[in-house]
Amino acid sequence: MSDTTTHELLIGGRRRPSRSGETFSVNEPATGTPMATVAKAGPADVDDALAAATRAFDDGPWPRLPATERGRVLLRAAALMRERSEDLARVEARNAGKPIGDARWEVVEAAAATLEYFGGAADKVQGEVAPISAPGLGVVLREPVGVSALIVPWNFPLMIATWKVAPALAAGNAVVLKPASYTPLTALMLGELLVEAGVPEEAVSVLPGPGAEVGNALVADPRVAKISFTGETGTGTSILQASAPNIARVSLELGGKSACIVFADADVDRAVDELAGAVFGNAGQDCCARSRVLVERARYDEFVEAFARRTEAVRVGAPLDESTEMGPLISEKQRATVRGYVESGASEGATVVTGGAAPEDPELAGGSYLRPCVLSGVDNDMTVAREEIFGPVAAVVPFDTEQDAIRIANDSIYGLSGSLWTRDLGRALRVAKGVRTGVLSVNSNRSVHPQMPFGGHKRSGLGRELGLHAMAAYTEVKSVYLSDS
Ligand code: NDP
Repeated sequence: MSDTTTHELLIGGRRRPSRSGETFSVNEPATGTPMATVAKAGPADVDDALAAATRAFDDGPWPRLPATERGRVLLRAAALMRERSEDLARVEARNAGKPIGDARWEVVEAAAATLEYFGGAADKVQGEVAPISAPGLGVVLREPVGVSALIVPWNFPLMIATWKVAPALAAGNAVVLKPASYTPLTALMLGELLVEAGVPEEAVSVLPGPGAEVGNALVADPRVAKISFTGETGTGTSILQASAPNIARVSLELGGKSACIVFADADVDRAVDELAGAVFGNAGQDCCARSRVLVERARYDEFVEAFARRTEAVRVGAPLDESTEMGPLISEKQRATVRGYVESGASEGATVVTGGAAPEDPELAGGSYLRPCVLSGVDNDMTVAREEIFGPVAAVVPFDTEQDAIRIANDSIYGLSGSLWTRDLGRALRVAKGVRTGVLSVNSNRSVHPQMPFGGHKRSGLGRELGLHAMAAYTEVKSVYLSDS
C-alpha cells in the first residue's frame, strides 16, 4: 500500500517542499514497489537549513539553555518516541525491509534508550580546574562545537540517527540530519518529534536527498563545524577530503569485517545459535556483522554442520510477518552484489554449504530476498574474507592456535567489532587485548550499548559514538585563565 502524501523536507523545524519542487520515490524492499514520495532536497535547501542552524547556534536559546533543561527536552522526545513506537517500527520495517520484531527493538531499546541516555548525560559533562602555576584559576570549559551535519545510512536509519542527534543536541548544538535516500521516512518523523518535544525549530533540519549532492554540499560548507557520518569507507574518505579546507571536526563510522572467534572449549551450541543473529541479523547489512567466523580446527567440521542446520532454519519472510527472522536486502542492486560475492567465494575455492540463492517461496518473488549463506573452507586471503559483503554471508575460517586466531582476526583493513567464545577466562583476556577492534564481546555477539563507546580502529572509522565519549565529540574545550590580581 503506497502512501499518497508527499513527505516534505524539515527545514528549520518546519515541513515544506524542496525549493526545486522535485520529489523522489521510496521503495519497499519486500515488494520492490514504491511506498512513499519524498521531497528531494538540493543545494538551495542545504543553504536554508544551514542558515537556520547557524542562527539557532549563534543567537538562539538552545546552546544557552541550562544543560539540565536540554536534557529534559530529550527525555520528552524519548517519551514521545515510546508512545509512537509501533508507528515508527512499522514504517522502519517496511522501508528498510527489516523484521517488525527487530524494528520494534531498534525503536524502543535502541533509539528511545539513546535519547534517554543523552537526556540524562546532558548535565553530566563537566569541565576541569587545572592546577596551573600562575596566580588564579585555570578553568577548562566544555562548550558545544557548533552546527553539526549528521549523515546516516539505510541499515539502521532511526537508531543511527539518534546516536548522532541525541549527543549533538544534548551538548547544545544545532543539527542538520541527512538520511539515506533509501530510508528517509523515520528521520523526518524523528525531526518533527524533537521539535514537538521542545527543541527550537531552527535547531533541527532533516534533508532527504542524494548524498553526492546534499551530503557533499553539507560537508563542504564552512558553516558546518562538526560532521558525523556512518556509511561506506570510501564515502568517509571523500567526506574527510571535502571537509578538510574547513578543518571541520569529523567522526566516521565505516565498514567492518568483524571476526567471531570460536575456541574448541566454547559452548558451541550457544555460539552457533547466537551467531545466526550476529551475521544474518538485518540480512547481514550491519557494520558489526560477524562475517568472518574463525573456528578452532578441532571442532571445525562439527561447527560448520551445526551452523548450516541453524542457518537453514532461519525464517526468511515479509518484514511485517511476526515470525520473520530475516527480511529482504535493501535493494535488488545490493542482492546482486551479495550474490556476486557468493560466486567469488566459490570460484576462489570455498564451499557453499547452504544458501546464497533467492528463496523458492513464490510469495517472496517480488522482493530482494536471499537465503542466508554459509561458506566453509575459507582462507583469510579470499575476497569473501577481506571485503565487507554487507549481506547474509558467513565465511567460516579454520585456525589452530590462540596466536593464529588473533593474527587472522587482525589481518584486515577493518577493526570495528568482534567476539570470542571460550570458557577459559585467561584466554578471553589475552585475546580481547590482542584483537585490534573498537568493540569486542566475550561469550556474546552484542556490539552496542548506549552507555559504552562505539567505533572502530583502522579503516573502520574515526572517533567514537555513544557513551560519554560521544558528548566529547560534540564539544570543544576552552581554557579560561582567571587571574586573582
Ligand atoms: P554510502 O556511504 O554511500 O551512504 C551512506 C550515507 O552517506 C547516505 O546518507 C548517503 O546518501 C550519503 N552519501 C553518499 N555519498 C556522499 C557524499 N559524497 N558526501 C556525503 N554524503 C554522502 O553507502 P551506501 O548507502 O551507498 O552503501 C554502499 C555500501 O556501503 C554498502 O553496500 C555497505 O557495504 C556499506 N555501508 C556500510 C555501512 C556501515 O555502517 N558500515 C552502512 C551503510 C553502508 P544517499 O543515500 O543519498 O546516497
